[in-house]
Amino acid sequence: MVTIEQLIEKILSYNPKANIERIRRAYVFSREAHCAQKRVEGSPYIHHPLSVAFILAEMHLDSATIAAGLLHDTIEDTDMSLNDIKDMFGSEIVFLVEAVTKLSKVEFKTKEDAQAENFRKMFLAMSKDVRVILIKFADRLHNMRTIGFLSEERQEKIANETLEIYAPLANRLGINWLKIEFEDLCFKVLMPELFKELQGKVAKYIEVHEKYFEEVKESIYTRLLASGIEAKIKSRIKNIYSIYNKILKQKITFEQIYDVIGFRIITDTIPHCYEILSIIHSLWPHIPGRFKDFISLPKSNMYESLHTTVVGPSGYQMEFQIRTHEMDLIAEEGIAAHWRYKEKDMLDSKNARYVAWLRDLIKEISDAKEFLEAVKGEVIPETVYVFTPKGDIKELPVGSTSIDYAYSIHTEVGNKCIGAKVNGRIVPLRQKLNSGDVIEIITSASQTPSKDWLKYVVTQRAKSKIKQWIRNEERKQSISLGTSLIEEEIRRHSLPLSIIKSKKMAEVLKSFGIQSLEDLYVLVGFGKLSAHQVVNRLMPEKHEEEITPKPIKPTSSQRSIIKIKGIDNVLYHIGKCCFPVPGDDVIGFITKGKGVTIHRLGCANLERLALNSERLVDVEWIEDGDATAPVKLSIEAMDKPGILANLSALISAANINITYVRANSTSDKRAIIDLILDIKNKKQLFNIQNKIAQMQGILNIRR
Ligand code: MN
Repeated sequence: MVTIEQLIEKILSYNPKANIERIRRAYVFSREAHCAQKRVEGSPYIHHPLSVAFILAEMHLDSATIAAGLLHDTIEDTDMSLNDIKDMFGSEIVFLVEAVTKLSKVEFKTKEDAQAENFRKMFLAMSKDVRVILIKFADRLHNMRTIGFLSEERQEKIANETLEIYAPLANRLGINWLKIEFEDLCFKVLMPELFKELQGKVAKYIEVHEKYFEEVKESIYTRLLASGIEAKIKSRIKNIYSIYNKILKQKITFEQIYDVIGFRIITDTIPHCYEILSIIHSLWPHIPGRFKDFISLPKSNMYESLHTTVVGPSGYQMEFQIRTHEMDLIAEEGIAAHWRYKEKDMLDSKNARYVAWLRDLIKEISDAKEFLEAVKGEVIPETVYVFTPKGDIKELPVGSTSIDYAYSIHTEVGNKCIGAKVNGRIVPLRQKLNSGDVIEIITSASQTPSKDWLKYVVTQRAKSKIKQWIRNEERKQSISLGTSLIEEEIRRHSLPLSIIKSKKMAEVLKSFGIQSLEDLYVLVGFGKLSAHQVVNRLMPEKHEEEITPKPIKPTSSQRSIIKIKGIDNVLYHIGKCCFPVPGDDVIGFITKGKGVTIHRLGCANLERLALNSERLVDVEWIEDGDATAPVKLSIEAMDKPGILANLSALISAANINITYVRANSTSDKRAIIDLILDIKNKKQLFNIQNKIAQMQGILNIRR
């Protein structure tokens, strides 16, 4: 039975700086919490958490994991709460204890087709911190080692669960020693007679061949010594459950199994591995099909080794595994090696591969999930796990796109993203991501977010960042429009622009209840306040002037055909109610958040809008050779064949583009033809109107 002193001695043997005081506190806490409990065989309950902690120490894990191992059953079985543990041991340990407690409540299914789901549950617990699974493994291992005290029924249930879930998972995580121990402990419970029989055969086999294998080792050591290579040779006995499986699957007898005993040669460097391989091949003939180089092609669980089988003296086949110390550590400890105290640094150089390993696991889990969904239609947590090019894991909701991913990295990456490479291939930004994808975002300094993106994102973060950018942009536009409108109004009253910064302005702002000059520009730009109202208050002695449109000044050569007095490049639209053309008397109306709409003076719609007179602005046409504005004409004609063709030929001959035509007949044989034409100016419009009016059969023409 393990004691606390033995535990501490074990920890100090590999981690002299371990936080022993915390380990002792965890021990006392756990002992007090479990004081009323006994194990089935009658011993104090504390023996169980102590043994679990000892197993974790044998795995050389850090002291937080070991403390969590001591505490792992306190929440489930005693009056202690997570808060008690948090207060005494901090957030790292409470996280581990809570996760293990949750995992203990998961009901695992032992039907074969539920395996995928079991793996997924395990993985979800593990995805945040692999140590959660390691504690659970140690817990289960101690329970399996002491299973003999339970009823036969309980034994069978636990052994089945361990064999179907824990052993395969330990294998997938590369923890070989654990997989082997799980398997043999379960096999012993489930098939005790067969286990005994095979165990006996193995013992006999070793006895018979012992001398022979010693000779084999000797001849290798001699050659190694001559070559100056340092290496250790260990013999390895195949575990009973594997032997049973081999007999079952290959339909052979125990005597036909050639690798009951194998050799493992562990050396310092990779070149030495290959040198040792050639030494062995020179000593005995090897079987060609059995040579495997897992160093140049490692297994997905990071396993590396050279494997070869030779025909030794007296015709015995012998398998050799040749590897470095580091490879041996990973082969035995698997993912747990990554968490070992001290060796951590050594493995960090392998980080990329560790991540690739996790990625493969995730892929497996998510494939299993799809399979399950198809079979059962069950609702399963909606998460995809994706990777940065450096291998960091990101967790996103299902349905996320590269845009969601980009915003999860950084707002600026989101705002500037123009494309994405998924697993090295360029894909559209709107493409949905899958678990295991490696994503690289392509950005461009000139890119800006688009309203469309809102359709392709699912994360709240991306949504709010895109909306925020759009709001900011609208604000910027209205600041620029508002600034221009106010400056123009100031100039119109022949006031100095410096008045904007004056005390007087500050008073005006106050009188409107506006906080800053920028807010003022926004309000004016959005059309909630007129420049006229503002400037009027700057000069209260003057009475309000009437807003009148300025005469047309065709002076500028800019492409834009409309200019709001004093402002360049302002967003404007031609009013769809009156279709003004260059040359018409026009006025602008500030539309909330959208810029300025241009109306003809006298437009019925405008007269209604103009009740809001503070939103009117002076605009002027600019002559531009090619620029046009749409004009709608309504023509009344006699309904006779060819009238539309003639009309269209006439307009085309005048070099005018028709963008819209609609013709209706009336009951009294008249045709009403509506046209929209691209017109350069008032003169061109006048000419074409005249020409149409002179056509045969035209009764009336109206704008
Ligand atoms: Mn336990």
